[in-house]
Amino acid sequence: MALTAPTGEWTDEQKSLRKSLSQHFEALNAGHLEDDAANRFNRDKWQLIRDSGVIRIPFAEQWGGLGHDVLTLVYVLENLGYGCRDTGLLFALATQVVSAAIPLQKFGSDDLKDRYLSRLIDGEIISAHAISEPNAGSDATAMITTATEDGDEYILDGKKIWITSGPLADIITVYAKTGTAGGAAGITAFLVPTDTSGFHVGEPIEKLGLNTCPFCELEFRDCRVPKENMLGKPGAGFFILEHVMNYEILCIFMMMVGEMEERMERCIKWAKTRQAFGASIGSNQYVAGKIVDMKIGLENSRKHLYDTARRFNRGRSVTTEISMAKLITSEANVASALSAIQIFGARGYTREYGLEKGLRDAIGAPIYSGTNETQRVRIASMLGL
Ligand SMILES: Cc1cc2nc3c(=O)[nH]c(=O)nc-3n(C[C@H](O)[C@H](O)[C@H](O)COP(=O)(O)OP(=O)(O)OC[C@H]3O[C@@H](n4cnc5c(N)ncnc54)[C@H](O)[C@@H]3O)c2cc1C
Repeated sequence: MALTAPTGEWTDEQKSLRKSLSQHFEALNAGHLEDDAANRFNRDKWQLIRDSGVIRIPFAEQWGGLGHDVLTLVYVLENLGYGCRDTGLLFALATQVVSAAIPLQKFGSDDLKDRYLSRLIDGEIISAHAISEPNAGSDATAMITTATEDGDEYILDGKKIWITSGPLADIITVYAKTGTAGGAAGITAFLVPTDTSGFHVGEPIEKLGLNTCPFCELEFRDCRVPKENMLGKPGAGFFILEHVMNYEILCIFMMMVGEMEERMERCIKWAKTRQAFGASIGSNQYVAGKIVDMKIGLENSRKHLYDTARRFNRGRSVTTEISMAKLITSEANVASALSAIQIFGARGYTREYGLEKGLRDAIGAPIYSGTNETQRVRIASMLGL
């Protein structure tokens, strides 16, 4: 089946860009369960992602981008989420788009763009971003990694943790304290090449899901970064991070909508063919009801994400909308993954069918991109509570 078209006026160019990804689905899915079992990032598939040009979509043509807006990007990514079952690879892709290239395009100097932007959006160099620390997760403003000014350089000292694509990365956007100001005000963002002296990358940390995209700890000991590698101004790190997180949520969670649609289609097909008690299991309202809830969850997510992407595209504030879209989609995806396992019975519980992987991959989402609890806290505060 083909992915349901979201409402909206899409140009022929947008439609053909979205469709162009479909030709890669088969190759992207080949051996993905084996890669997951081996915790393996697949370089050949990364090459396919590069060749597809998807990373280039939201970047200016001057740097080799395709010059499209965020709405076009998520429209294309939704189709990729529908067709590609290697969720870890898609997580690495989203990280590549948002972690360094997006802040570099908006907040970096031309010199910094000349050095890195074309290579980032080509996928030749891989990127990550480092915010979380062992004692600063939900409350990232409690970070203690410092960046101390020294002549033409800043000296980074500290530790970061849970860094997606960290073991693969050539360049990392590091958020560190440059000032004594409390809260967000003293945090600054730097682009740090991973071959910088004093920069140490830890071994991949084993995790529950998204196994084809490794994450790790980082350590900075007297790590000297030229001042030109700063993104934006001193103290602007959290402002930059807010922009990056909006992109991150729109990209990752729109791919989840595609994933939910594909999963629902599998469940419908199965529910129509699997027989029990002399009838298809789908004729039982307990089973049909689960699929109806999958449909409601995915359409609710799609509507919230597209509405938010449209607002964001128009330069409007999306503080509450982005939190709601993230919450709705991550929770709908976990519920959909659980229902699919139940509908497939013991088959759903096996590795062979890939549905248990869908659940393992889904469970990370209420934690990353701002935990669902902190998103609820944010919505409460926007309501004046
Ligand atoms: C798959 C994955 C990928 C990640 N990738 C990256 C990355 O690339 N870069 C990076 O920097 N980080 C990354 N992270 C880290 C992620 O940002 C943090 O895990 C997240 O911010 C939560 O921090 P924590 O794990 O320290 O949890 P904690 O802050 O210790 O929170 C533990 C629990 O307490 C809850 N809690 C905390 N405070 C409150 C409150 N005030 N009210 C209600 N509940 C609260 C939290 O919601 C959570 O449920 C990733 C995490 C995962 C799972």
